[in-house]
Order: sequence, then structure tokens, then C-alpha cells
Amino acid sequence: MEEPTTTVPKKRQIYVGKITIVRRIVQIFVIIFLNAVFWDSFLKIDLSFFQSMFRFVPFLSSPRSTFSDSGGFLELMLGSMVARIVPFLLFGLIIFVTIVFGRATCGWLCPAGLIQDLFGWAGIATKNNREMGITTHAYVSRLKNWILGLILLFIVPFLFIADNNTYLQYVQVLGDFGKNPLGFWSLDEFLFVFVPTITQDIATSGNLELLLSNWLYIVQGFFYLIIMILTFYYPRFYCRYLCPYGAITRPFAKHAITALSRNPTKCVGRKECGKCEKACPMQIRILDESYTRISGNGECILCGNCKQVCDKEKYQAIELSFFKS
Ligand code: SF4
Ligand code: SF4
Repeated sequence: MEEPTTTVPKKRQIYVGKITIVRRIVQIFVIIFLNAVFWDSFLKIDLSFFQSMFRFVPFLSSPRSTFSDSGGFLELMLGSMVARIVPFLLFGLIIFVTIVFGRATCGWLCPAGLIQDLFGWAGIATKNNREMGITTHAYVSRLKNWILGLILLFIVPFLFIADNNTYLQYVQVLGDFGKNPLGFWSLDEFLFVFVPTITQDIATSGNLELLLSNWLYIVQGFFYLIIMILTFYYPRFYCRYLCPYGAITRPFAKHAITALSRNPTKCVGRKECGKCEKACPMQIRILDESYTRISGNGECILCGNCKQVCDKEKYQAIELSFFKS
């Protein structure tokens, strides 16, 4: 066995190992083939025939397709609540997928995750990458729980409104928020529904003023511009701090069957190495986690960055494990 290297990294470095290559292929496959924008806008293929079959497949969203009302599990779940149907099946699916695969959906499938990974890479490549202070990181991580809580506060009452008139009045009061509760907070929705829609509208009409005609467009545009700038400095900024899907899956991801573990007999620790922590886009204190499970309080997205960097350093201390608590 080759001697391990012992240089402690000061800054993050980009390392493209086998896991990253496979993950990028999967992410690109998903972004192209599970995204109706591609089929609908580029290939001009009408997917509505498959609507009933693919209703539960996430990321199917498109400006012109009927899927656009509900792009992912959480959007569908909230949409179902607005329609006064308790989303047992969808919530069960979210729990099941998360219990089995943890938040691998965030690390391997989410299209907004790929875009954030690329922005994060750009930040690292230009040496602009930063780390959030430990306490600040812990506090700001809770923001996504508050966002989810706030959305549910307005949406759960739908399930208890029996009277049709009251229901219609409540729908009217909530307006666009009632129609698409996750809309404003979803980076996926912004990147894959809002941006293509507005681009298409401007291209068709040739009228740039369309962008400035609605104050909500301007607020949304600025908001996500700031998010993407922050992602350049802090990888996966949206996933870490704002994503409501991350908030709903986190409690289950803590107990997922699939997780990473760290072999104490192989790991040399933070002082000697610590490269895994520098490679983690979710800023998880891997070396403070239990040996049997690296979960980061449910924040691990199973991207494998830590494992591949540890393998590269020849320590091979991080392993994929199953059924470990
Ligand atoms: S797990 Fe691997 S990369 Fe992390 S400190 Fe231990 S030896 Fe280094
Ligand atoms: S702990 Fe490892 S697998 Fe989990 S998010 Fe961090 S780098 Fe990725």
C-alpha cells in the first residue's frame, strides 16, 4: 500500500474522481431526460399522454406542459393538500425514498443541485470559496425548516375546510401562493419553469419590458441572483439553508439505510488530514460525526466527495454502509 500524503488543505480543491464523473453523468441524464422543458420546448414532443403515468416523477416541469403545476414530490404533496386531499401516498413515498437512499436524491438527481455544484466549482476554481462560521452555519441551517413551517401553516388549513364557499374564499385570499405554494421558494421552479417561460415569452413577443412589468418577477430575479452569487462562495447554499425539500427529508435522512461511515483505524484525523471536511459541499463536520454514520444531522447528500478524496489520499477510511445506526 502506498504511503498516505499528510498535507492539510487550507482551501477547498476540485477533485474529479470516479464518483464525481458518475454523479455528473446521472445528474446530466436527469436534467435532460426527466425534464419536460427539454422534451416540450426543444424536441417539441407533447408529453401530456404520459401525464397519468409520470405524475409522481419529480422534475417534470415545463412552461407549456400540464406538469408545470407540480414539478416534484413536495410540490405534488402541497398541491394535493390545496385540493383537500391528504397526501398519504406522496408523503409515504418521500419517507420511503429518504429512508432507503437518504438525501441521495439531492446529491444525484436534483437539477438545481447540478447547477449549484457547477457554481460551487467555479467558486473553488477561482479561489473564492468560503466557509460559513460554525455557529452561523448551525443557525442559518434552520432557515429552511422555518420556510417549510410557514408554507405548511397556510396550506394545512385546506385539509380542514369542509365548506365550499369558505374554501373558495381561502383560495382567493392566498392567490398565486395557494395555486403554487412552493413556487417562490423552489430554485428548480425558478431555473426550469420561470426562466424558460419568461425567456420564451420575451423571445416570442420581442418585448423586454415584459420582465419589468411585474414587480414579483423583479423580486424573484434579484432573490435568486443573490442565491446564485452566494452559491459561488458557499457551495450548495440553497440546499444547505433554504430548500423546503431538504427540510422535510432531513429528519428521515438521519436514519437512512444507506449512509457513509468512517473507519477509525484508518482515519488519521483533522490535524493530520481533514481533507474530507474540506471537500464537503454541505459543510458537515465529518470528523465530529459518529464513526458508524456520517449524517450531519440529516444534511449529508451522499455526494461521495469525502470518500473519493479520502481514497485519493490512500487512507480509504470512508465507506458506503447500510443498516448502521
Ligand atoms: S476520513 Fe479520510 S480524508 Fe477524512 S480525515 Fe480521515 S483520513 Fe482524512
Ligand atoms: S459528508 Fe461526504 S457524502 Fe455527505 S455531503 Fe459531505 S462530502 Fe458529500
